[in-house]
Amino acid sequence: MSASGENQPETAASTDRQVVTRFAPSPTGYLHIGGARTAMFNWLFARHYGGKALLRIEDTDKARSTPEAIDAIFAGLDWLGLDWDDAPVFQSARAERHAEVAYQLLDAGNAYKCFATSEELEAMRAEQREKKLPLRYDGRWRNRDASEAPEGAPFVIRLKAPEGGKLTIADEVQGSVTVDARELDDYVLLRSDGTPTYMLAVVVDDHDMGVTHIIRGDDHLNNAFRQLVLIRAMEWAEPVYAHIPLIHGNDGAKLSKRHGALGVEAYRDDMGIVSDAMFNYLLRLGWGYGDREKISRAEATELFALANVGKSPSRFDAKKLVNLNGQYLREMDDAALAALVAPRVATLMPGFDPAVGTDLLARAMPVMKLRARDLNELADGAQFLFKSRPIGMDDKAKSLLEGDGIAVLQTVFSVLAETAPWTAATLEDRLTQFAEEQGHGLGTYAQPLRAALTGQARSPGIFDVLELLGREESLARITDVTRVAA
Ligand code: GLU
Repeated sequence: MSASGENQPETAASTDRQVVTRFAPSPTGYLHIGGARTAMFNWLFARHYGGKALLRIEDTDKARSTPEAIDAIFAGLDWLGLDWDDAPVFQSARAERHAEVAYQLLDAGNAYKCFATSEELEAMRAEQREKKLPLRYDGRWRNRDASEAPEGAPFVIRLKAPEGGKLTIADEVQGSVTVDARELDDYVLLRSDGTPTYMLAVVVDDHDMGVTHIIRGDDHLNNAFRQLVLIRAMEWAEPVYAHIPLIHGNDGAKLSKRHGALGVEAYRDDMGIVSDAMFNYLLRLGWGYGDREKISRAEATELFALANVGKSPSRFDAKKLVNLNGQYLREMDDAALAALVAPRVATLMPGFDPAVGTDLLARAMPVMKLRARDLNELADGAQFLFKSRPIGMDDKAKSLLEGDGIAVLQTVFSVLAETAPWTAATLEDRLTQFAEEQGHGLGTYAQPLRAALTGQARSPGIFDVLELLGREESLARITDVTRVAA
């Protein structure tokens, strides 16, 4: 296989017909982040051209294609905000149609029955291995008549690959790629039990669904040539191909489990990444618009072009994703964010009732989201708001009360109790003024207060904490500490 040329501008063919793309995942139990990116590129391309984005579930492997595995794909796509035109196509339901095409090819002389037994084929491969030849079906039944086979012997149907010449694909991402037709074998279309192979099913489905552009991982580039032989044998319209480089880990090796989670649901559920951030991150992994890092779905739809898809593998960097997530959190609507954080708080604090607590969470978001990078940090950091009294204290908080901490709290209590209205700004003015009068830094008061109000040594700004908790709860939490110590 040889490749040449830079990314070519999208050919006229890309825009003349109505664009139809498809995402065709094989269910594996989750939506792989690489698959998610492929789905996004197909979706963006179709939306950009006002075409159709279709979904096909390649569920022919019955052992893996459980309803749960299929649901995981739907849920992952849904989370990323990818919607599809028409109902999803289930490949397994189309086996009869696939077989029909195999027989059409047989009738037209573009395919043939092969009666070779598996022992025979194994012997053929052993010989090829010994002679260091490429392992390839040798066409032994290509020119034989079915009447030469024993009565009732099982057979497969194989496609007749071209005997010579070259095949070229003008790939929108890889450029022009050519293979020698001799590299292609007479592959199986229909197995001896009558079931279609992947190669047959994909081509028939793409044709029947009217797919004009096939955008998928470059691990399928070799398949494209073999599929093209079938498409030409059927005299079907040839799709435009765009094979996008796979995602690698941050060490440059192909992405695998040791690089971190592979399924999008782990980023959503375990890591607390929000949909917009995941979308933006995956988008930038392999597609770019200048050096813009932050691009929304709407902008991406407007700007997306295959010409801007990179030709080399991109590296998945979880740190960058988390940083981007932090940026998205800061821009999110507080009520929407609180709704995402509430179930996580409920997991951490079984007594938490989202119906009651989500309003307070929403009010806390403006200050809490300033530093958080994911939803878990937000949930964790918000727990102090919902603790029941006495709230208890961790060791670091206790150390903030060493020395004269309790006496300080008693003093602060009286200053705060006299302050009105109970807002962060008024409380800050009053306590700052008081600290100045006493010749102390604000920290002298803020740190013991933080310990008493949150039970922790880290929290949002102390005046925000006071306002969020409210007068009654704040004063009561301070009293809980001073009373015990007294
Ligand atoms: N089902 C194949 C996969 O998940 C994709 C087939 C295709 O895009 O042509 O790898």
